[in-house]
Amino acid sequence: MKCIPVWNRCNNKCVMCSNPPGYDRVGTYTLEALKERVRRIPKGEPDIYLTGGEPTLHPHLLELLGFIRGRCPAARIAIDTNGRMFAYRVFAKKCASFGNMEFQVSICGHSAAAHDAVTRTPGSFANMLSGVKNLLALGAPVEMRFVLTKKSLPNLDKVYRFAKSRLKGIKSLVLIFMEMEGMAGANSASVGLRYRDAAGPVASFFKAAGDPPFELKLYHFPLCALPPALWRYAWRTLPRKEVTFPRPCRACAVKQYCLGVHWDYLEHYGAEEFSPPAAPPRIIPGTNPCRPVLDVKWR
Ligand code: SF4
Repeated sequence: MKCIPVWNRCNNKCVMCSNPPGYDRVGTYTLEALKERVRRIPKGEPDIYLTGGEPTLHPHLLELLGFIRGRCPAARIAIDTNGRMFAYRVFAKKCASFGNMEFQVSICGHSAAAHDAVTRTPGSFANMLSGVKNLLALGAPVEMRFVLTKKSLPNLDKVYRFAKSRLKGIKSLVLIFMEMEGMAGANSASVGLRYRDAAGPVASFFKAAGDPPFELKLYHFPLCALPPALWRYAWRTLPRKEVTFPRPCRACAVKQYCLGVHWDYLEHYGAEEFSPPAAPPRIIPGTNPCRPVLDVKWR
């Protein structure tokens, strides 16, 4: 999996953004610089992720997509996006036309009021919704992503119900535990969330979710921050350099399946919440390194 930050500008101002305040004033992201990064990717690479900032605002995104497709014809190209630009149907169609694309769209709330309060950008919910509908109408794979913060956690059930009723056809809903860096770190007093405060509501949510019409995933959760019954939903998606295993992890029987803990989380809240699970269940490992636990069995 290769990740290309397309650039660092964005048209939202999300309160829990992991980019630093003022981030849009630094860095150079010319098309030639981006192409140079693509040239370093092996031609057989199966997965390429475009992130930002907001990649869809880059004036040369379509040329970049064409260049990637030319170099890596079989790669799945995923775009991490706030979805707003896809409200322009022609743009959505052009992006989807490169084939084997996936659109990973942020949803920050179940209503315009809830979503726009997080993005701090009026109209962003309406744009996102039009964008997702355009992509779904084109038959493009769409994954929705909801970042859990102190503010958004109470809306989890409502976002799920909204996705079920209004976003029919999405392939997955990902619940992402916030990263305590950048803007999120600066706003930690209002949005900062501890794993111990998220565990109960997340467990109750899964109990009530029933049989969802799309896949549910959990990102950025160490295993001991979840009940073992939810380990099979936990994906390991943070780069190795961004996480660490605090001292108690040395004695942990499930460490090889665990994401570890983000450095910035430890800086804000310390390591007291993390300890090896007592009498953990037997783990059925997955073949995908990003999804280490396929299932658990109680001995
Ligand atoms: S103790 Fe450490 S390795 Fe074990 S589950 Fe918790 S964070 Fe992961």
